[in-house]
Amino acid sequence: MGEFLTARGIGKRYGDFWAVRGVDLELPEGRLTSVIGPNGAGKTTLINLLSGLVRADEGRITFRGEDITRLPIHKRVRRGISRSFQITSVFPQLTVRDNILLPVLARRGETAAPFRRIGAGLDGVREAQTVLERVGLSEQQDLLAGVLPHGDQRLLEIAMALAPEPSLCFLDEPCTGMTPGESQQILRLVRRLGAGQQTTFVVVEHDMDVVFSISDWIIVMNRGEVLVAGPPDEIRNDAAVREVYLGEEVQE
Ligand code: ATP
Repeated sequence: MGEFLTARGIGKRYGDFWAVRGVDLELPEGRLTSVIGPNGAGKTTLINLLSGLVRADEGRITFRGEDITRLPIHKRVRRGISRSFQITSVFPQLTVRDNILLPVLARRGETAAPFRRIGAGLDGVREAQTVLERVGLSEQQDLLAGVLPHGDQRLLEIAMALAPEPSLCFLDEPCTGMTPGESQQILRLVRRLGAGQQTTFVVVEHDMDVVFSISDWIIVMNRGEVLVAGPPDEIRNDAAVREVYLGEEVQE
Protein backbone atom coordinates (compact mmCIF):
# COMPACT_ATOMS: atom_id res chain seq x y z
CA MET A 1 0.00 0.00 0.00
CA GLY A 2 1.38 3.45 -0.93
CA GLU A 3 1.69 6.43 1.32
CA PHE A 4 -1.64 7.90 2.44
CA LEU A 5 -1.61 11.15 4.43
CA THR A 6 1.62 12.40 5.98
CA ALA A 7 2.38 15.56 7.94
CA ARG A 8 5.87 16.81 8.70
CA GLY A 9 6.44 19.53 11.28
CA ILE A 10 3.08 21.21 10.76
CA GLY A 11 2.07 24.16 12.87
CA LYS A 12 -0.60 26.83 13.19
CA ARG A 13 -0.07 30.05 15.09
CA TYR A 14 -2.60 32.55 16.41
CA GLY A 15 -0.59 35.67 17.24
CA ASP A 16 2.26 34.44 19.43
CA PHE A 17 0.41 31.29 20.43
CA TRP A 18 0.98 28.03 18.59
CA ALA A 19 -2.28 26.05 18.64
CA VAL A 20 -0.44 23.20 16.90
CA ARG A 21 3.30 22.92 16.58
CA GLY A 22 5.82 20.50 15.15
CA VAL A 23 3.33 17.75 14.41
CA ASP A 24 4.62 14.76 12.48
CA LEU A 25 2.17 12.01 11.64
CA GLU A 26 1.36 9.28 9.19
CA LEU A 27 -2.30 8.38 8.90
CA PRO A 28 -2.79 4.72 8.11
CA GLU A 29 -5.23 4.09 5.24
CA GLY A 30 -8.34 2.00 5.90
CA ARG A 31 -8.14 2.21 9.69
CA LEU A 32 -10.32 4.21 12.03
CA THR A 33 -8.13 6.79 13.74
CA SER A 34 -9.25 8.82 16.76
CA VAL A 35 -7.68 12.07 17.90
CA ILE A 36 -7.93 12.58 21.64
CA GLY A 37 -6.52 15.01 24.19
CA PRO A 38 -7.64 17.48 26.85
CA ASN A 39 -9.59 20.64 26.01
CA GLY A 40 -7.51 23.05 23.98
CA ALA A 41 -4.95 20.37 23.06
CA GLY A 42 -5.17 21.31 19.37
CA LYS A 43 -7.37 18.49 18.05
CA THR A 44 -9.72 20.67 16.00
CA THR A 45 -6.82 22.77 14.76
CA LEU A 46 -5.05 19.62 13.60
CA ILE A 47 -8.17 18.49 11.70
CA ASN A 48 -8.50 22.00 10.26
CA LEU A 49 -4.91 21.89 9.04
CA LEU A 50 -5.22 18.45 7.47
CA SER A 51 -8.58 19.13 5.82
CA GLY A 52 -7.55 22.58 4.55
CA LEU A 53 -9.89 24.77 6.57
CA VAL A 54 -6.85 26.64 7.89
CA ARG A 55 -3.46 27.01 6.25
CA ALA A 56 -0.33 25.76 8.01
CA ASP A 57 2.17 28.39 9.14
CA GLU A 58 4.91 25.81 8.94
CA GLY A 59 5.49 22.25 7.82
CA ARG A 60 4.31 20.09 4.96
CA ILE A 61 1.31 17.84 4.30
CA THR A 62 1.23 15.23 1.55
CA PHE A 63 -1.67 13.08 0.39
CA ARG A 64 -0.94 10.05 -1.75
CA GLY A 65 2.46 11.53 -2.45
CA GLU A 66 1.19 14.97 -3.54
CA ASP A 67 2.11 18.11 -1.57
CA ILE A 68 -1.28 19.55 -0.51
CA THR A 69 0.02 22.02 2.11
CA ARG A 70 -1.10 25.07 0.14
CA LEU A 71 -4.27 23.60 -1.37
CA PRO A 72 -7.52 25.24 -0.22
CA ILE A 73 -10.28 23.07 1.20
CA HIS A 74 -12.31 22.75 -2.03
CA LYS A 75 -9.29 21.43 -3.90
CA ARG A 76 -8.61 18.93 -1.13
CA VAL A 77 -12.26 17.81 -1.38
CA ARG A 78 -11.66 17.09 -5.07
CA ARG A 79 -8.71 14.93 -4.10
CA GLY A 80 -10.91 12.91 -1.76
CA ILE A 81 -10.55 14.65 1.61
CA SER A 82 -13.70 15.83 3.41
CA ARG A 83 -14.77 16.78 6.91
CA SER A 84 -17.71 17.44 9.18
CA PHE A 85 -17.88 20.25 11.71
CA GLN A 86 -18.06 20.31 15.50
CA ILE A 87 -20.98 22.72 15.52
CA THR A 88 -24.22 21.43 14.09
CA SER A 89 -24.08 22.50 10.48
CA VAL A 90 -27.22 21.14 8.86
CA PHE A 91 -29.56 23.56 7.07
CA PRO A 92 -32.72 23.31 9.21
CA GLN A 93 -35.08 24.83 6.60
CA LEU A 94 -34.06 22.36 3.90
CA THR A 95 -35.24 18.78 3.65
CA VAL A 96 -32.92 16.03 4.75
CA ARG A 97 -32.42 15.06 1.08
CA ASP A 98 -31.61 18.62 -0.03
CA ASN A 99 -29.00 18.92 2.72
CA ILE A 100 -27.18 16.06 0.98
CA LEU A 101 -28.00 17.22 -2.53
CA LEU A 102 -25.98 20.42 -2.03
CA PRO A 103 -22.63 18.69 -1.49
CA VAL A 104 -23.50 16.03 -4.09
CA LEU A 105 -24.13 18.69 -6.74
CA ALA A 106 -21.04 20.60 -5.64
CA ARG A 107 -18.95 17.50 -6.27
CA ARG A 108 -20.60 17.03 -9.66
CA GLY A 109 -19.78 20.66 -10.52
CA GLU A 110 -23.45 21.59 -10.73
CA THR A 111 -23.75 24.12 -7.93
CA ALA A 112 -24.14 27.23 -10.06
CA ALA A 113 -27.21 25.98 -11.93
CA PRO A 114 -28.16 22.78 -10.17
CA PHE A 115 -31.25 21.90 -12.15
CA ARG A 116 -30.19 23.33 -15.51
CA ARG A 117 -30.06 19.81 -16.85
CA ILE A 118 -32.97 17.86 -15.43
CA GLY A 119 -31.20 14.54 -15.98
CA ALA A 120 -28.18 15.65 -14.02
CA GLY A 121 -30.44 16.87 -11.19
CA LEU A 122 -32.14 13.49 -11.00
CA ASP A 123 -28.82 11.67 -10.89
CA GLY A 124 -27.87 13.94 -8.02
CA VAL A 125 -31.09 13.09 -6.17
CA ARG A 126 -30.43 9.38 -6.62
CA GLU A 127 -26.90 9.84 -5.33
CA ALA A 128 -28.18 11.79 -2.34
CA GLN A 129 -30.64 8.99 -1.60
CA THR A 130 -27.86 6.42 -1.70
CA VAL A 131 -25.86 8.43 0.83
CA LEU A 132 -28.92 8.66 3.09
CA GLU A 133 -29.46 4.90 2.85
CA ARG A 134 -25.89 4.34 4.03
CA VAL A 135 -26.51 6.22 7.26
CA GLY A 136 -30.06 4.89 7.70
CA LEU A 137 -31.93 8.17 7.07
CA SER A 138 -33.87 7.20 3.92
CA GLU A 139 -37.24 7.30 5.59
CA GLN A 140 -36.66 10.83 6.85
CA GLN A 141 -35.55 12.26 3.48
CA ASP A 142 -38.62 14.48 2.94
CA LEU A 143 -38.62 15.94 6.45
CA LEU A 144 -37.14 19.33 7.20
CA ALA A 145 -33.74 18.75 8.73
CA GLY A 146 -34.62 21.10 11.60
CA VAL A 147 -37.32 18.76 12.93
CA LEU A 148 -35.01 15.74 13.20
CA PRO A 149 -34.05 14.60 16.68
CA HIS A 150 -30.52 15.56 17.69
CA GLY A 151 -29.05 12.11 17.00
CA ASP A 152 -30.44 12.06 13.45
CA GLN A 153 -29.05 15.54 12.82
CA ARG A 154 -25.61 14.24 13.77
CA LEU A 155 -26.12 11.36 11.32
CA LEU A 156 -27.09 13.86 8.66
CA GLU A 157 -23.84 15.74 9.26
CA ILE A 158 -21.91 12.54 8.72
CA ALA A 159 -23.90 11.95 5.54
CA MET A 160 -23.01 15.49 4.35
CA ALA A 161 -19.34 14.73 4.87
CA LEU A 162 -19.76 11.46 2.93
CA ALA A 163 -21.55 13.08 -0.01
CA PRO A 164 -18.32 14.03 -1.84
CA GLU A 165 -17.35 10.31 -1.73
CA PRO A 166 -14.17 10.94 0.21
CA SER A 167 -11.35 8.47 0.62
CA LEU A 168 -10.39 10.34 3.80
CA CYS A 169 -13.06 11.84 6.05
CA PHE A 170 -12.53 13.87 9.23
CA LEU A 171 -15.38 13.93 11.77
CA ASP A 172 -15.00 16.59 14.45
CA GLU A 173 -16.85 15.40 17.55
CA PRO A 174 -19.66 13.65 15.68
CA CYS A 175 -21.21 12.51 18.96
CA THR A 176 -21.49 15.84 20.78
CA GLY A 177 -24.61 15.96 22.92
CA MET A 178 -25.28 12.22 22.66
CA THR A 179 -25.42 9.60 25.38
CA PRO A 180 -22.52 7.10 25.55
CA GLY A 181 -24.84 4.45 24.09
CA GLU A 182 -25.81 6.67 21.14
CA SER A 183 -22.16 7.64 20.59
CA GLN A 184 -21.20 3.99 20.51
CA GLN A 185 -23.90 3.36 17.88
CA ILE A 186 -22.83 6.27 15.68
CA LEU A 187 -19.19 5.29 15.78
CA ARG A 188 -19.98 1.66 15.05
CA LEU A 189 -21.84 2.91 11.99
CA VAL A 190 -18.77 4.97 11.04
CA ARG A 191 -16.68 1.81 11.32
CA ARG A 192 -19.04 -0.10 9.05
CA LEU A 193 -19.10 2.76 6.56
CA GLY A 194 -15.31 2.80 6.55
CA ALA A 195 -15.16 -0.88 5.78
CA GLY A 196 -17.90 -0.80 3.16
CA GLN A 197 -16.92 2.35 1.35
CA GLN A 198 -13.15 2.32 1.49
CA THR A 199 -13.24 5.58 3.41
CA THR A 200 -10.61 6.19 6.04
CA PHE A 201 -12.13 8.04 8.99
CA VAL A 202 -10.40 10.27 11.51
CA VAL A 203 -12.62 11.13 14.45
CA VAL A 204 -12.18 13.68 17.23
CA GLU A 205 -13.96 12.23 20.24
CA HIS A 206 -14.01 12.87 23.99
CA ASP A 207 -15.64 9.70 25.29
CA MET A 208 -12.71 7.44 26.13
CA ASP A 209 -14.78 4.25 26.39
CA VAL A 210 -16.05 4.79 22.87
CA VAL A 211 -12.59 5.74 21.57
CA PHE A 212 -10.91 2.66 22.97
CA SER A 213 -13.61 0.32 21.77
CA ILE A 214 -13.87 1.49 18.16
CA SER A 215 -10.44 2.84 17.15
CA ASP A 216 -7.69 1.02 15.29
CA TRP A 217 -5.26 3.87 15.87
CA ILE A 218 -5.21 6.71 18.41
CA ILE A 219 -3.39 10.02 18.23
CA VAL A 220 -3.06 11.71 21.62
CA MET A 221 -2.54 15.46 21.57
CA ASN A 222 -1.46 17.73 24.38
CA ARG A 223 -0.55 21.43 24.25
CA GLY A 224 -0.51 21.52 20.46
CA GLU A 225 1.78 18.53 20.05
CA VAL A 226 1.32 14.85 19.40
CA LEU A 227 2.13 13.19 22.69
CA VAL A 228 1.95 9.67 21.30
CA ALA A 229 0.22 7.71 18.53
CA GLY A 230 -0.47 4.01 18.33
CA PRO A 231 -2.99 1.18 18.65
CA PRO A 232 -5.46 1.35 21.60
CA ASP A 233 -3.63 -1.20 23.76
CA GLU A 234 -0.39 0.75 23.58
CA ILE A 235 -2.11 4.06 24.30
CA ARG A 236 -4.07 2.65 27.22
CA ASN A 237 -0.88 1.62 28.96
CA ASP A 238 1.16 4.69 28.12
CA ALA A 239 2.32 6.47 31.28
CA ALA A 240 2.37 9.93 29.67
CA VAL A 241 -1.20 9.52 28.41
CA ARG A 242 -2.38 8.42 31.84
CA GLU A 243 -0.72 11.46 33.34
CA VAL A 244 -2.44 13.83 30.90
CA TYR A 245 -5.79 12.28 31.79
CA LEU A 246 -4.99 12.11 35.52
CA GLY A 247 -5.42 8.36 35.39
CA GLU A 248 -9.17 8.64 35.18
CA GLU A 249 -10.59 8.15 31.73
CA VAL A 250 -8.04 5.74 30.35
CA GLN A 251 -8.79 3.01 32.84
CA GLU A 252 -10.21 -0.27 31.59
P1 ATP B 1 -11.60 21.16 22.50
O1 ATP B 1 -11.47 19.76 22.96
O2 ATP B 1 -11.91 22.10 23.61
O3 ATP B 1 -12.48 21.32 21.28
P2 ATP B 1 -9.17 21.20 20.88
O4 ATP B 1 -8.22 20.17 21.36
O5 ATP B 1 -9.95 20.88 19.66
O6 ATP B 1 -10.11 21.64 22.07
P3 ATP B 1 -8.39 23.58 19.49
O7 ATP B 1 -9.81 24.03 19.26
O8 ATP B 1 -7.64 23.07 18.31
O9 ATP B 1 -8.32 22.51 20.66
O10 ATP B 1 -7.62 24.80 20.12
C1 ATP B 1 -6.25 24.72 20.49
C2 ATP B 1 -5.84 26.04 21.09
O11 ATP B 1 -5.81 27.04 20.06
C3 ATP B 1 -6.78 26.55 22.16
O12 ATP B 1 -6.02 27.16 23.18
C4 ATP B 1 -7.62 27.58 21.44
O13 ATP B 1 -8.05 28.60 22.31
C5 ATP B 1 -6.64 28.12 20.40
N1 ATP B 1 -7.35 28.54 19.17
C6 ATP B 1 -8.03 27.74 18.33
N2 ATP B 1 -8.56 28.44 17.31
C7 ATP B 1 -8.21 29.73 17.53
C8 ATP B 1 -8.45 30.97 16.84
N3 ATP B 1 -9.15 31.00 15.72
N4 ATP B 1 -7.91 32.10 17.36
C9 ATP B 1 -7.20 32.07 18.49
N5 ATP B 1 -6.92 30.95 19.19
C10 ATP B 1 -7.42 29.80 18.73
